[in-house]
Amino acid sequence: MTGEPVRIQKALADAAVSSRRAAEVLVEAGRVTVNGERATLGQRVRVGIDVIAVDGRTIGERPRAVHLALHKPAGVTSTVADRHAERTVMDLVPAATTRRAGRLYPVGRLDRDSEGLILLTNDGEWAQRVSHPSHGIEREYALGVATALDAEQARLLTSGVALEEGPARVRSMRLQTDTETRRLLALVGTPHRSPRLHWYRVVLTQGWKRQVRRMLATVGAPVVRLVRVRIGPVRLVDLAPGEVRELSAAERDGLAPRQGRSRADDAVMEDRARPLQVAIDGPGSSGKSSIGAGAARELGYRFFDTGILYRGLAWIAADRDVPASDPAALVELIPRLEIADDGKGLLSRVVVDGQDVTERLHDAAVDQIVSAVARVPEVREALLPVQREIADEAPAGVILAGRDIGTVVLPDADLKLWLEVSLEERARRRSKQRGHPAGSADERRVLDELRRRDGIDSSREAAPLVMPDGAVRIRTDGMALPEAIERVVHHIRLAERAR
Ligand code: C5P
Repeated sequence: MTGEPVRIQKALADAAVSSRRAAEVLVEAGRVTVNGERATLGQRVRVGIDVIAVDGRTIGERPRAVHLALHKPAGVTSTVADRHAERTVMDLVPAATTRRAGRLYPVGRLDRDSEGLILLTNDGEWAQRVSHPSHGIEREYALGVATALDAEQARLLTSGVALEEGPARVRSMRLQTDTETRRLLALVGTPHRSPRLHWYRVVLTQGWKRQVRRMLATVGAPVVRLVRVRIGPVRLVDLAPGEVRELSAAERDGLAPRQGRSRADDAVMEDRARPLQVAIDGPGSSGKSSIGAGAARELGYRFFDTGILYRGLAWIAADRDVPASDPAALVELIPRLEIADDGKGLLSRVVVDGQDVTERLHDAAVDQIVSAVARVPEVREALLPVQREIADEAPAGVILAGRDIGTVVLPDADLKLWLEVSLEERARRRSKQRGHPAGSADERRVLDELRRRDGIDSSREAAPLVMPDGAVRIRTDGMALPEAIERVVHHIRLAERAR
């Protein structure tokens, strides 16, 4: 299994790190290294020779977790380690499954003479949770006895018979219906010339060795045939003797109840429950706001353009003649800023002392001073909790757009995007928005203004505009808005799957 060069995405998928498509996202996001070097999409690697790491953690050839149901026929042992056994359950598992799963083992046991459902897995933690007595998972058996049980025998079985381990009792017991018996025998078969049996259904939550057989022997009714037909939510139904099938996700999760999960599992679950966070950074007029809002609309995410906070503050500062050189006075203005919903679920309105100033945020007076206001470290510091709160309180996923989202505001974002567009294209877009004719002097002024702001934003000390590590770069020159939105949605969907 080693040495053969394969694409990095395949190597990650084979190692059960993620699906192939999600692996592409990990690679593109720069989270994957090969021999210490950042991996590139499509790069060929030699599994078992090259050191492949995700987020700095080396991956082994850890196989995907496998959870199987098997119909064990009588005469087959469920103990893998029994050297004397002629056949064990492992002989019934197809070779391809064993190869894929690595070390498989039975969860619990089913004695050699008994038949029916047994679970196999390579997932140790899951096996432990399933077999832990505290979960009391129900196991249901069809049991065949030569003579019908009398009332006293039935009473003893449900009220408790003494076994070495303590009082043993069945949780419930009833006669099997004729239909159940017909179906069961059609599945498990009847040996030639076997006597007609009386069939019962018993449910147990205790799981001692050969418990059903010992209990029935104690009340003087030896079991002739014993078939396990159910373990928790997993039923034998029409799984033929010797057949194996994979458990559904619902069966797998139904067997290991939530409260039984380990702390590590809880952490993973919590992480999954946290809304997905997406950071979009890039220079002014690179389309962050229209693309981000469009993608959020499509995904049902919250979108917030953090630029409106800086613009709103710049507007107040201009209005009150507070100079950008006075950090304390600027910070004092922040409580006056209020971010409001536009009535359609978008947090896009800025209200100052009850006055909606949203339409004024792109005034020349604001453009003029906003970057000087935004370079003040105290201002950035004070606006940090405001932005994080908006992200944290998003009911579903959230997309934040700005200049330092992936680097400072949400450094642990699930996905970081970097939008890039030529200065000329940005100037054209902004001019068009403002109604300036193409190639006009006004358009050139817009271009100069954008270049000036880029200069300040990129060279400032506090949270300068830089592409965050691991960001996916998207160049939108010549790209229509719907196409750009589609690209962003695609990356977010991949990130969702990678989680
Ligand atoms: O994105 P927009 O052009 O509306 O941002 C206006 C200004 O606000 C930027 O030029 C930048 O100086 C500042 N800003 C920032 N950090 C952010 C968002 C905006 O410094 N996260």
